[in-house]
Amino acid sequence: MSNIVAIVGRPNVGKSTLFNRLVQRRDAIVDAVSGVTRDRHYGKSNWNGKEFSVIDTGGYTVGSDDIFEEEIRKQVNLAIEEADIIVFVVDVEEGISPMDEEVAKLLRKVKKPIFMAVNKVDNSMRDANAVEFYNLGLGEYYTISSINGSGTGELLDAMVEEM
Ligand code: GDP
Ligand code: MG
Repeated sequence: MSNIVAIVGRPNVGKSTLFNRLVQRRDAIVDAVSGVTRDRHYGKSNWNGKEFSVIDTGGYTVGSDDIFEEEIRKQVNLAIEEADIIVFVVDVEEGISPMDEEVAKLLRKVKKPIFMAVNKVDNSMRDANAVEFYNLGLGEYYTISSINGSGTGELLDAMVEEM
């Protein structure tokens, strides 16, 4: 079995919250404060009878913006190498940030299935705000709330179709 799903994205978009929901285990550290050194976390999950591993690429270090971005770039490249499927998480509350654009740029070159998850869509009023993420050039996206679980079923349905 080698279905590996990597969750990537800039800090604070909700990667670890999504990871915790997918693996139904509070393994990753959810932290409202950015700039904490953290390791990568691995978990197991299954959906519609398909088993898969999930990587939460949370680990990053305090530093200047340059070091910070370099660290994220490293994490994303590692995830791209290791994963069969990539979930790119962005945040509807913040909208598109320069760091999202950096990550999207890396992902646009990748031949593996990429699922863009617009997170923090906690209510349907936020659906409309998600359209700006089309500008990242990755096509279709899934609106989800990692906190209340809405939309995550549709995302998982689409993900396991690729396994
Ligand atoms: P990470 O740095 O990408 O791993 O992000 P975290 O999972 O640590 O979450 C960062 C912050 O966003 C935390 O305060 C979470 O509670 C919050 N958060 C995560 N998912 C959601 C969501 O679906 N809705 C809202 N409103 N907040 C969320
Ligand atoms: Mg995290």
